[in-house]
Parts: sequence; structure tokens; C-alpha cells
Amino acid sequence: MKIKRNAERCHGCRSCEIMCSFHHHGCISPAASSISIKRENATGRVFWSVDATCDLCKGEKEPWCERFCAYGALKVAR
Ligand code: SF4
Ligand code: SF4
Repeated sequence: MKIKRNAERCHGCRSCEIMCSFHHHGCISPAASSISIKRENATGRVFWSVDATCDLCKGEKEPWCERFCAYGALKVAR
């Protein structure tokens, strides 16, 4: 996978989902995001995945999920 997430830094804020949907569709809709973040409230564990619609932010100067992760939890290789 070309996107790596540092689990210790990720707080499950879902900003990456928002920015990914904005890249794809110009709207804020986590359902339209390539990256999916789910936080289990009871344990605080965060589960994540990236589906095949991720184009590594083609056409953008930098990957938006990485750029707008305030915790520096994502690293995209492209
Ligand atoms: S923006 Fe960063 S901290 Fe927030 S859910 Fe995504 S990877 Fe985790
Ligand atoms: S690199 Fe771009 S398209 Fe891929 S998950 Fe991140 S924001 Fe979405």
C-alpha cells in the first residue's frame, strides 16, 4: 500500500476522510472518501482502510489526506 498510517499518532479525527472527498468530488462527504477511519469508542482503537478509488491525489500538489492530518499520522508515497 502506498499510504502508511502511524497508529500511535492517529486520533481518529476523520479529517483525512473529509479532505479526500473534497479532492474527489468538491464536497464534504466521508462516504465519498477513499480512506475510511472508524474509531471504537469503548477501546479507542482506530481501524482504517483505503480502497481502490484512491488516485494518490492525482493533479494536486500534495496528497490532501497527508497535508491536512494535524497529527502527522499519514505518509503517502507517490
Ligand atoms: S486525519 Fe490523521 S489523525 Fe485524523 S483520522 Fe486521519 S490519519 Fe487519523
Ligand atoms: S491520497 Fe488523496 S485520494 Fe488517496 S486517500 Fe489520500 S486524499 Fe484520498
